Amino acid sequence: ALTAGIVGLPNVGKSTLFNAITQAGAESANYPFCTIDPNVGIVEVPDHRLQKLTELVNPPKKTIPTAFEFTDIAGIVKGASKGEGLGNKFLSHIRQVDAICHVVRCFQDDNITHVSGKVDPISDIETINLELILADLETVLKRIQRVEKLTRQKDKEAMAEFEVLSKLRDAFEEEIPARAVEFTEDQQKLVKGFHLLTSKSVLYVANVGEDELLDIDNNKYVQLVKEFAEKDEAKFIVISAKVESEIAELDGEEKAMFLEELGIAQSGLDQLIQATYQLLGFATYFTAGEQEVRAWTFKKGIKAPQAAGIIHTDFEKGFIRAETVSYEDLVEAGSEQAAKEKGKVRLEGKDYLVKDGDVMHFRFNV
Ligand code: GDP
Repeated sequence: ALTAGIVGLPNVGKSTLFNAITQAGAESANYPFCTIDPNVGIVEVPDHRLQKLTELVNPPKKTIPTAFEFTDIAGIVKGASKGEGLGNKFLSHIRQVDAICHVVRCFQDDNITHVSGKVDPISDIETINLELILADLETVLKRIQRVEKLTRQKDKEAMAEFEVLSKLRDAFEEEIPARAVEFTEDQQKLVKGFHLLTSKSVLYVANVGEDELLDIDNNKYVQLVKEFAEKDEAKFIVISAKVESEIAELDGEEKAMFLEELGIAQSGLDQLIQATYQLLGFATYFTAGEQEVRAWTFKKGIKAPQAAGIIHTDFEKGFIRAETVSYEDLVEAGSEQAAKEKGKVRLEGKDYLVKDGDVMHFRFNV
């Protein structure tokens, strides 16, 4: 399954946020393909379209939102890439995630120790980023050693790789992450193959105190993180992990009331889920039958057979066609039958690029 990793220095609020995620958590019986691990929390992606589709199908037995995973990656401290703290065990965990959610402490609380003595979000961010860059530098230097020999024999592929590696090394030495280095399309393919930590998309999550949520424009820490994110080709959101842990304990109606009291439209967790979803280039397609109405996550750019494969590998192997209607057309028509009569249901083949909001019915050979 698709996953995002939560990183940050100790005592910034990672566990508080992660516990809120698992508590608000999805019903795992619906997601048998997800990992069972205490450090992994499954979240449902809120999507108002699912409700509407459920009404149209009057009524399906089940409605199942799409979900993805958050992994709690503890253990990054200064020197971690050289084996300090929990050592570099975290590196292998980060390699496995699709995106990084970097939690940054923006709350002031003298009772809670800050690892470096004072609240300083930019220095915190740089500490973590430096560890990731150092780990990548090591990866790149090792590869350079191997490739250099081949370049002396004028091996074309090796020379192309050497050029990319050198550019990365220079960037890392200036503490620039791989995602901020410009490459041609061909070079990007090479970079992808190196599985670098700093190639991954990053979302900075500014964690503010519970009484600060409504006044973030005056929070100088938040503003600093925001500016940093803009420079760093990264996205940024503000949450209060403390508040999220309180929200996670409430049910639907209580939750709505509490949010209204706080004066916010959407819980931080829902914002986090949606921001991560966008960051990763994820989109949603739907299946809608009498058994269930269900949302499925896919990565933009895939074609109909791969989308079918997300449900079951047999659907991909035996793919014939996908009956497809856009969510908007279906809702406007009012029913699948009406959409068909209006000619809005298309028969798409194996080259069809799946779009966000497609409602699909796959035909396949077994
Ligand atoms: P981690 O080490 O990054 O996982 O941090 P924790 O989630 O364990 O949080 C460290 C401490 O900070 C805990 O005592 C939390 O209750 C506290 N904490 C987390 N978020 C907030 C917040 O927004 N405001 C305040 N005052 N304390 C917080």
